[in-house]
Amino acid sequence: MSLISILGSTGSIGSQALEVAASHPERFEIAALAAFGNVEKLAEQANRFTPPRLSIGTKELARELRGRLNYEPEEIGWGSEGLIGVAAAASDCLLAATDGLASLDAVLAALERGVKRVALANKELAVAAGALLFERARRANAEIMPVDSEHSAAFQCLLGEQHSSVARIVLTASGGPFYDWTLARMRNATPEQALKHPTWTMGPKNTLDSATLINKGLEVIEASRFFGLDADQIDVVIHRQSVAHALVFFKDGNVKAQLAWPDMKVPIGFALSYPHRLDAYDASRTRAALGGETPSLLAFEPVDVQRFPGLSLCYSALRKGGTYPAVLSATNEVAGRAFLQGKVKFTEICEIIEKALDAHKADNVTLEGIRAADAWARSFAADEIVKRSPDMASSRK
Ligand code: MG
Repeated sequence: MSLISILGSTGSIGSQALEVAASHPERFEIAALAAFGNVEKLAEQANRFTPPRLSIGTKELARELRGRLNYEPEEIGWGSEGLIGVAAAASDCLLAATDGLASLDAVLAALERGVKRVALANKELAVAAGALLFERARRANAEIMPVDSEHSAAFQCLLGEQHSSVARIVLTASGGPFYDWTLARMRNATPEQALKHPTWTMGPKNTLDSATLINKGLEVIEASRFFGLDADQIDVVIHRQSVAHALVFFKDGNVKAQLAWPDMKVPIGFALSYPHRLDAYDASRTRAALGGETPSLLAFEPVDVQRFPGLSLCYSALRKGGTYPAVLSATNEVAGRAFLQGKVKFTEICEIIEKALDAHKADNVTLEGIRAADAWARSFAADEIVKRSPDMASSRK
């Protein structure tokens, strides 16, 4: 039996992790759950899994949560303290599935208090604070397991291999909803169009990031953290079928690829159960993933970086290093939200990121340095958004 705690349990990854746990009650027990604002869903999850510890965004929500429960948990926390309480609860695996840097302290606290596995689904943590996080994990003798399908794939290809044997890793991208759109058409894309992902079920942040391909760029940075590779050793190819998730090219000419049907529950299950594998085999889905009645060849094509400049921006942040990835991640979050709120155009997301990377002055990669860079980037992006928002433009006329 494995005890699991989840930060961000009401989000897409958190909810799917609970589905995995529910399908394997003999293997998983839920120790603690934390959510930010969705009190209704957290209460529903809590009543189903009855974890002893819970946490939610505010004191008021914590009170409301208590009123919705049909059991008595040991503790209901709130805010950042509550998040730390959930993260540091005695467990075998902490799934970090919040957005942004909100759970950084909580994850570091978990490592300090002896949690031996962090399943990392939070890209921003790996991108902005990856160097620090992986170093703390090494010192605490804890493992950080990838949850993202591509990194799970590469991790699996690398099992039993030596780091020095790896020539390069190739991450696959579905290409997102604007795969065949022209730049001009993308400029006027609506939030509804950007949130329609062809193959994966993910939260809105990841889905939008797949439309700009920044999702894949963040994954390149994440891969460099996980596998200790530099930017030149990580490639991205478009693979519309979303069946092969990563390929690893070895120095001797051998190539390993990992294939699985596109369902986040597969890599989530792997991260929670490793080194065991869950019994979740489904013959019909396997057949469908391999092309069904008319088996198809796996197809790969290069990314058009003219149309998807976000990918190049991520490579440049990775190459610059230091606090640049933190700036990229924070700016992307703020600009992406502004696009979803109709304040900037789709193509302006990348323009704002580019400006921020140009304007940023590198800071130290300490906890304080990362936070300062994050705050600077958020305010820089907010200023840019105000300058660009249509209301402002018309009021200036
Ligand atoms: Mg992914």
